Amino acid sequence: MITIEKSDRLNSLPPYLFKEIDRQKEEVRKRGVDIIDLGVGDPDMPTPPHIIEALNKAAIDPANHRYPSYSGMGDFNEAVARWYKRRFNVDLDYENEVVTLIGSKEGIAHIPLAFINTGDLALVTSPGYPVYHTGVQFAGGQAYFMDLLKENDFLPDFNTVPEEIADKARMMFINYPNNPTSAVATRAFFQEVVAFAESHNIIVCHDAAYTELAFDGYRPISFLEAEGAKATGVEFHSLSKTYNMTGWRIGFAVGRAEVIQALGQIKSNIDSGAFQAVQIAGIAALEEDQACVENINRVYTERRDILVDGLVELGLSVEKPRATFYVWIEVPKGYNSAEFTSHLLSNGGIVVTPGNGFGAAGEGYVRMALTVDKERLKEAVERIGSIGF
Ligand SMILES: *Cc1c(COP(=O)(O)O)cnc(C)c1O
Repeated sequence: MITIEKSDRLNSLPPYLFKEIDRQKEEVRKRGVDIIDLGVGDPDMPTPPHIIEALNKAAIDPANHRYPSYSGMGDFNEAVARWYKRRFNVDLDYENEVVTLIGSKEGIAHIPLAFINTGDLALVTSPGYPVYHTGVQFAGGQAYFMDLLKENDFLPDFNTVPEEIADKARMMFINYPNNPTSAVATRAFFQEVVAFAESHNIIVCHDAAYTELAFDGYRPISFLEAEGAKATGVEFHSLSKTYNMTGWRIGFAVGRAEVIQALGQIKSNIDSGAFQAVQIAGIAALEEDQACVENINRVYTERRDILVDGLVELGLSVEKPRATFYVWIEVPKGYNSAEFTSHLLSNGGIVVTPGNGFGAAGEGYVRMALTVDKERLKEAVERIGSIGF
């Protein structure tokens, strides 16, 4: 028997905060309780049929059975550039400023390998999508957390970042519309990001996974719409949430050519690109009728109103999100995130995500996802009403 010792890299990961919830969930399930799971950010609706048809057709073609290009098919990257022009009026050179990803998580996790040396700093938000800091850590770097606070509309306040930290930082990760807080960014904020990045020479990585999930006529903007943004970094995008394609693994990064090319260089040493048939289906998603996106948003709007109106009526402090499928809820007096999560699960059979699982500054909140149907959301509100808090 050889002894198996994990790398310092794996051992240095913070403890898995959802372990205790997983345990409680299992226990509640064993009691035979009908669980309403508002914990996962994974769409429950199917991929629109025209996208599946495009995959079916492409899957039969032997030309698509071979290794794809690691940086993406020219046709897919061109479709991305056209979509950026149509959607955000941003011009992209598809040959140098676009790279296809095997889901945007893949690119987000890999990009620090291109720019972080041992001990280097990256600015990351708290709360935030955990991949930002684990990617940085895996590359040998260290995350400096910028807190997202309610009084700042859950935008980072760059004035609180010490000068020497800002000067040392090589990269920054931000994400609007935001998971988990559902906050949105203004053009003025993105302009501030550009100025801060320029004055401290920081590569900006903006995660734009949720720009297409927005309600009440609101249209989120791209970071690349800010003046000078493209010179400071890249934006990550994904078809996962927009077209209910989380299982398909297709996303992309766009922006500053040297950054895109360095990410491509990392990828060429690790993977061999996304299945071409999936890229062809991705072209169909981006180029064909966008009515499917409107339908998806209509469903989330209805669910949002049922959940948020219900929770507000019960006396919880919640704002109606303008984008994303998350609702960020302040825990009631007398609870912290873990205690309220545990109360909802053990007594109500409702799974939510404790805010501190996304970083220390998420303490005092829980996140609910609108990825179950409205009947279940009504039932969740009723259950919370009957168990109280
Ligand atoms: C879902 C999500 C992603 C990634 O999605 P992929 O399926 O890997 O494209 C990226 N960032 C955030 C904040 C997300 O919530």
